[in-house]
Amino acid sequence: MKKKGFLIDMDGVIYKGSEPIPGAVEFINGLRDKGLPFLFLTNNSQRTSRDVCYKLNKMGFKVNDTDIFTCAMATARYLASKKENGTAYVIGEGGLLTELYNAGYSIVDDQPDYVIIGEGRTIMLESVDKAINMIMKGAKLIATNLDPNCPMGDGKYRAGCGALVAMLEFASGIKAFSVGKPSPVMMRMARKALQLTTDETVMIGDTMGTDILGAGSMGFTTVLTLSGVTHESDLAHFGYSPDFIIKSVKDLLDEELFMKVIGEPALAEAEY
Ligand SMILES: [Mg+2]
Repeated sequence: MKKKGFLIDMDGVIYKGSEPIPGAVEFINGLRDKGLPFLFLTNNSQRTSRDVCYKLNKMGFKVNDTDIFTCAMATARYLASKKENGTAYVIGEGGLLTELYNAGYSIVDDQPDYVIIGEGRTIMLESVDKAINMIMKGAKLIATNLDPNCPMGDGKYRAGCGALVAMLEFASGIKAFSVGKPSPVMMRMARKALQLTTDETVMIGDTMGTDILGAGSMGFTTVLTLSGVTHESDLAHFGYSPDFIIKSVKDLLDEELFMKVIGEPALAEAEY
C-alpha cells in the first residue's frame, strides 16, 4: 500500500458542538491502529492544542496534543519565520496568545510589528480602534483566518474572525494577509508536519471555501463530507469540486471506499 496521510477538519467532520459525529471515533481510532498519519486542521484560534485534545479525548478519540494543528499555530510559526522575536498587538484569545509566546513573540500595546486578528468572544470596540490606528501607522495586518461565520451546533451561527477582519480592512483601507485554511501557508505547513508529499496527502473537510479549496489548490486528494456546513445543493455554485463526496466519515469505514480514497493520486506526479 502506498503511504498516505490525512489532514482532517474537526467541526462538522468529526464532531458537532460537543457531540462526536456517528462513526468518527471508530474512523479516527482506526487510522491510529492502521498506523496511518493524520493531523487535525482547525481554523479556530481560540483554544490551544491541549484544550482541543482534552475535548477530543472526552469524546473518545485516542489523540494527543501533537495531532492538532490550529491556525493560531500556523500564524505564529509563519510570523516567526518572517521576523524573529517580533511584536504583536492581538485581538484574540488564549490559543493565539500562547502560540505567539511559544514562537518568541512579545505582545505589546504600542507600535507593534503586526496587528493579529483571531477568534474571540470578548472583543471591545476600543481595541478595534487601537488596532486601526496601529495599522494606519504601518503595523502589518494579519488574520488567523477569514471564516465569515462559525456554526454553533444548534443551527445558529456567530460572526467569525473574517467578519472582524473585514471591519478593520474597511476602516483602515489595508487588506489583511490570512494564514489559515484555505491559505497555502497553513496547508503546506500541515503536509510538511506529517512528512508527506503532495501526492500522499488526503484532506477531509466539510467546507468548500476553506478545506476543499485550500487542499484542492495544493493538489491534495479532497474528500468533502456533507455532515457539516456544505450541502449537496451548494456544490453547483463552485467552479472546483472535491475528488470524493461522502455523507459522513462513517462512509470511510467501508473498506472498498477507503481503499479508493487512499489509492487515488490527486494529480499526476509529474505535475508537481
Ligand atoms: Mg468544519
